[in-house]
Amino acid sequence: KDYAGNQYQLFSNDIEERSVEQIQLENDLFKALQRGDEFELYYQPKFDVRSDELIGTETLIRWNHPEFGLLSPGRFIPLAEETGLITALGEWVIKESCRQMKKWYDKGCTQLAVSANLSPQQFQQTDLASKVAAILKETGLPPQLLELELTENLIVNNTNQTLKTIRELKDLGVQISIDDFGTGYSSLGYLKDFPVDTLKIDKSFIDHMTTNANNAAIIKTIITLADSLKLNVIAEGVESRDQADFLARHGCYWIQGYLYSRPLPVSEFEERYVPSHS
Ligand code: C2E
Ligand code: CA
Ligand code: CA
Ligand code: CA
Repeated sequence: KDYAGNQYQLFSNDIEERSVEQIQLENDLFKALQRGDEFELYYQPKFDVRSDELIGTETLIRWNHPEFGLLSPGRFIPLAEETGLITALGEWVIKESCRQMKKWYDKGCTQLAVSANLSPQQFQQTDLASKVAAILKETGLPPQLLELELTENLIVNNTNQTLKTIRELKDLGVQISIDDFGTGYSSLGYLKDFPVDTLKIDKSFIDHMTTNANNAAIIKTIITLADSLKLNVIAEGVESRDQADFLARHGCYWIQGYLYSRPLPVSEFEERYVPSHS
């Protein structure tokens, strides 16, 4: 039987493997993107342990679903990737991150950088850099205050276009960080070809670092690697003082994690970290 357009698509895609909830979420995601008011960015601060100084903030998306409540990205980012909706969603994330950060910049946070997570698919857009340029222009955020977090696998999988896009972004003045560093299945050769600024040590190494010698060794190796390539290094998922101390002792001074703060809604981040009007 012939079904028309979208409906045919919906039913032809391995329906047995998809739960009713997933199909509903997929439709809701599409609607939410058109409405635009159900997504929210949380802000998780990053600190320098030497001074306890705030050095940046990462945006982490949440979806206030009318029926299911607050959804974390693990529930809908994979879906957005499968359906291609990630392109529009990702663009919203960059724009909203820049718009909010410019507000805080105007309130005196002139050194505070904002990091947005990018999905691999966003990188397949050949016009990504020009989209980012347009967002920077529209919001007025200084480019060096925007950082994009990319995963290692993205970089390794599709070299030519990815390298071109990263170079274009660097030319705009944007910072590039490699997220979840150490979890990819790659040789490290790409690091010398890609103009990246920061390595972010994945939480999986931070967990159990003080009890598992392998994790500790990997962390030390990443810090040494960053140091010799003149890259910044930051650790994510730092929950304990012991972990922070270990990292600092080995030369990783930037940390992010529950030890300092969970990701916060705008109002709470503002209350704690943004100077009020003078
Ligand atoms: P990620 O980029 O590795 O982000 C770190 C995750 O660890 C976040 O989970 C954060 O809330 C959590 N986290 C931070 N510190 C700690 C800690 O000390 N302990 C523990 N247990 N967890 C900590 P979240 O917000 O659920 O995000 C999960 C993943 O979803 C992110 O991993 C990222 O890959 C993806 N994601 C989030 N926002 C976006 C977005 O706007 N766009 C895209 N493409 N992906 C996003
Ligand atoms: Ca990240
Ligand atoms: Ca990460
Ligand atoms: Ca991670």
